[in-house]
Amino acid sequence: MRYARVDTQSDPHSETSPTTEKQKNLSNMLAEELQAIGVTDAHANEFGYVYATISSNTNKNVPVICFCSHVDTAPDCSGTHVKPILHKNYNGEDIVLPDDTAQVISVKDYPYLKEHIGHDIITASGLTLLGADDKAGVAIIMDLANYIITHPEVKHGTIKILFTPDEEVGKGTAKVDLKKLAADYAYTLDGGEMGTYEDETFSADGATITINGVSAHPGYAKDKMVNAIKIAGEILAALPKNEFSPETTSRREGYVHPVNISGIAEKATIEFIVRDFETQNLTKHEARLISVAENVMKNYPKATMQFEVHEQYRNMKEVLDKNRHVIDNLIEAYKRGSLEPRNEPIRGGTDGSRLSFMGLPCPNVFTGMHAIHSKHEWVGVRDMEKAVEALVNLVQVWEEKS
Ligand SMILES: [Zn+2]
Repeated sequence: MRYARVDTQSDPHSETSPTTEKQKNLSNMLAEELQAIGVTDAHANEFGYVYATISSNTNKNVPVICFCSHVDTAPDCSGTHVKPILHKNYNGEDIVLPDDTAQVISVKDYPYLKEHIGHDIITASGLTLLGADDKAGVAIIMDLANYIITHPEVKHGTIKILFTPDEEVGKGTAKVDLKKLAADYAYTLDGGEMGTYEDETFSADGATITINGVSAHPGYAKDKMVNAIKIAGEILAALPKNEFSPETTSRREGYVHPVNISGIAEKATIEFIVRDFETQNLTKHEARLISVAENVMKNYPKATMQFEVHEQYRNMKEVLDKNRHVIDNLIEAYKRGSLEPRNEPIRGGTDGSRLSFMGLPCPNVFTGMHAIHSKHEWVGVRDMEKAVEALVNLVQVWEEKS
C-alpha cells in the first residue's frame, strides 16, 4: 500500500528515460529498502532501473535466477493521490468505493472476489487506479527478498532483482543492461489469478496509415479540397464491426485496433496496434487493413496513402519452448505450495516477452491483481502471499535440481 501511494504513471508521449521522472521516487525507495534489509549492492540508476543481488548460500552451481516487476502504472487511468484501502476479512458483498460511490466493484463483474471471502483485499478509493499492476509484483519480490535473508535455511543460488520503469508504455526493457544483470533465467511478477503462469504473449506490431489530402481555402474549395480527416473517418468506419477488434475477440484470436488519430484537412494519421499469437498472422491482418483502406481511397483519386509497420514485440513461447525447465521448475514450485498450475496466454505483452528475445527466457507469474488499468483495480492479499511462497519454493527447486 505504501508503494501504491507513490505516483509512478508513465507517459507514452515522452522521449525521456524514464518517461516520467517521478517513477524514480519509487525506484529509489525500493533500493533503499533493499539496502536496509542487507541487500548491499541494491541501487537505482539514472534511468529508474533497480538492480540488486542476493548472494548464493549453497556450494552447488545453481543458474542465476532473476525476479522482475515494473514500478510504473498505466497512463489509461489517473495514478495521482492513490489512496489504497485494506478491506479486512472481506464479506463477499459488492464494494462501493468511498471517493466516488458510482464506482462499485461487484461480485457479478468480478466473480473471483468470491474466492477471497474471509481474506483481506486491497482496492483504490474511487478516483484513481490502485496500481497493483505492478506494485503487487514489486511487493511480492520485496517480501521474497526479506524472507530469504531472514531464513538462511532456505538454500538458493544467486538471485537477482530487477525493477523496471515504463513497462506500460512498451519501454520497460529499453535501457536494461543484461550484462550487468548477469542472470541466466528470469520470472516477471506481473500476472493475475492465483496459480496461473504465462509462457505465451501476443506477437505485436504497430501500423500507421497516413492520408495526404488536398487543402484549399474552405470558402473556395469547391471541387478542389479533399479532406484527409474525413477519409480517415471513412477508413475507421469501414473496419469490420463483428470481428478483427479487441471489443469482439477473446482467447487466441488476434485483432487490429486504432489507438490514435490526428490530422488536419491536408494530412491525417491513424495509428493502429496489430496483435496475434501466431507471428505470421500479423502480416495477414496488416494486408487486410491495407485492403480496407485502399477500398476507401479508390473514391479519392487526388488523395494518397502511406502504410508503415514497425515491430513491437514477439510471442515469448518461441523462446520458452527451447527452455522448458524454466516452466517445469515453476510448476514444481506451485505444486509444493498446493497451487493448481494453470497456463494462460497473455493477450498483451510483458517485459518478459522482450527479455526472452533479448536472451533472458522469462515467463510470467501470478500476483493476484485484478481489473487492472481501472478504478476498479483490486488485489487479494492471500494471492500475494501465495506468490511469495511460490517464489521461495522456486528458488529451492532450482537449487535442488542443480
Ligand atoms: Zn503490468
